[in-house]
Amino acid sequence: MAAMKFSELIIPTLREAPADAEVASHILLVRGGFIRRLASGSYNWLPLGLRVLKNVERIVREELERAGAQEILMPVVQPAELWRESGRWDVMGPELLRLTDRHDRDYCVSPTEEEVVTDLFRRVITSYRQLPCNLYHIQTKFRDEIRPRFGLMRAREFIMKDGYSFHLDEESFEATYAAMHACYSAILTRLGLDYRAVEADSGSIGDGESHEFHVLAESGEDEIAYSPVSDYAANIEKAEAVSLPGDGSVEPIQRTHTPGAKTIEAVASFLDADTTRCVKTLIVHADSEDPGLVALVLRGDHQLNEAKAGRIDGVRRPLEFASQGDIEATLGVGIGSIGPVGLALPVVADSSAAAMSSFVCGANVDDYHYVGANWQRDVTGEVRVVDIRNVVEGDPAPDGSGPLKFLRGIEVGHIFKLGTKYSEAMSVAVQDASGRDVVPIMGCYGFGVSRMVAAIVEQCHDGDGIVWPDAVAPFGIHIIALNNTKSAEVQAVAERLHHDLQAAGLAVLFDDRDDRPGVKFTDADLIGIPNRITIGERGLRDGVVELRRRDESDVRRLSPDAVVEAFAKTP
Ligand code: ATP
Ligand code: MG
Repeated sequence: MAAMKFSELIIPTLREAPADAEVASHILLVRGGFIRRLASGSYNWLPLGLRVLKNVERIVREELERAGAQEILMPVVQPAELWRESGRWDVMGPELLRLTDRHDRDYCVSPTEEEVVTDLFRRVITSYRQLPCNLYHIQTKFRDEIRPRFGLMRAREFIMKDGYSFHLDEESFEATYAAMHACYSAILTRLGLDYRAVEADSGSIGDGESHEFHVLAESGEDEIAYSPVSDYAANIEKAEAVSLPGDGSVEPIQRTHTPGAKTIEAVASFLDADTTRCVKTLIVHADSEDPGLVALVLRGDHQLNEAKAGRIDGVRRPLEFASQGDIEATLGVGIGSIGPVGLALPVVADSSAAAMSSFVCGANVDDYHYVGANWQRDVTGEVRVVDIRNVVEGDPAPDGSGPLKFLRGIEVGHIFKLGTKYSEAMSVAVQDASGRDVVPIMGCYGFGVSRMVAAIVEQCHDGDGIVWPDAVAPFGIHIIALNNTKSAEVQAVAERLHHDLQAAGLAVLFDDRDDRPGVKFTDADLIGIPNRITIGERGLRDGVVELRRRDESDVRRLSPDAVVEAFAKTP
């Protein structure tokens, strides 16, 4: 291994956090000289950062190979024809970076690789005997994210491991899906991280099973609902809400003047009622001109889950709220006074709203509400009852356990079933043993390799800097030579240990700079290498050097001659 001297490596540490950095990983990776911003959402990897990235890649590779996946490498620039074949060229919004070559042919920069891998598959797989087939690569992706932020966490250019599997039948798919689930768990366990595998929304792709892997961190963009007493956990985008019981009371319905009260809070406070006794009615566009609009009814304190609402039959996709103008033109009443009683629109009630009785709702006349409304007695039209709300802390879990609690997480992996969406659209068929054409079922397995580096830092840092887990640290050992430019003895012992530890196969960074001890210690804390060896004149007079772990305060004093052996013993 080449000499790894601090003075020779590019490690531009900074005292100040970059102005645009909001989260610990962004601040510390820039301050520690791991990465440097090139443009919005794109970063250069400097020597220390690249070593961490390569370590994450290595662990990901080892676990995938163990799980039977094969590594390939697919191009970053992809021909538009493939995306036209799958139907996604027109569906993908501005997140897809498109470009044109000198012959005026359209291309895009890979945000994901379903089209390319499906095309590759149809060219190279000829026999059912080659299935199942599980391919992956680790490659640069580009997504023109609307809000790149948090450094590596939500970048525009980033590195992803994406894998794709092909199967003749469900059983084979299920086996690989389970193997990938176990593989992702193994990766996160090896990295020593606190994580959760959660049920997830598969969005518009796929037709079923989907799991996300989240590294738990306060700064995470996702919220996870979990049951503390069972293994139930789900992204709140997806978490199924259990219908909460009403009190069954039957009061007479009364129309009440509620001047100026337009929000649930205002109505509740005007009527001196709890928001849990009120319903709110949201108006969205239907997928046809007749009826044009659809009413969604929720308990006053609950929030609409847009992913769930987007799946209601008859509702426009993606979900679109009706404007004040649309509503007034159709209903002759303003937002804030609408309710399900006497409403001339199809009504979809969230199951917890549907279980209420004697509730407060808009009276479909400006500035009037009903008090004591009841579904069976007062709502004449048909009401569809569906789960369309976000779960809240304290809800029962769908497995009967609970109450649910929330955690924040960083999504580092997502595995899901693609079904035959791509194989069908791109006319892929494989002959089975009886000569029958089978359209293969596909699975898709994404892992954010560069996001993972940030997620590790979010979980592994303290007030002084990063605390790398041994598995991914840029170096295992950091030698700090104190006043080495003044003391020939310190310099000599440091050089010898550096040499001997490297010869023993350990990755060592040697801080040989002509700098004050304080500068070296501050940088060492910031950079976060797990083991530190401090060599100074005073210690050497007693025949010792000092060993300390970044995550412990205990100091071990050892004779320089015992150091190599001490490290050789640690696994
Ligand atoms: P998100 O909901 O965070 O936007 P996604 O659903 O778009 O993620 P996938 O398409 O499933 O993500 O991509 C697989 C993995 O790639 C994600 O789990 C994540 O780890 C990583 N990833 C996605 N977008 C980014 C990004 N902008 N920057 C860094 N990593 C990303
Ligand atoms: Mg995304």
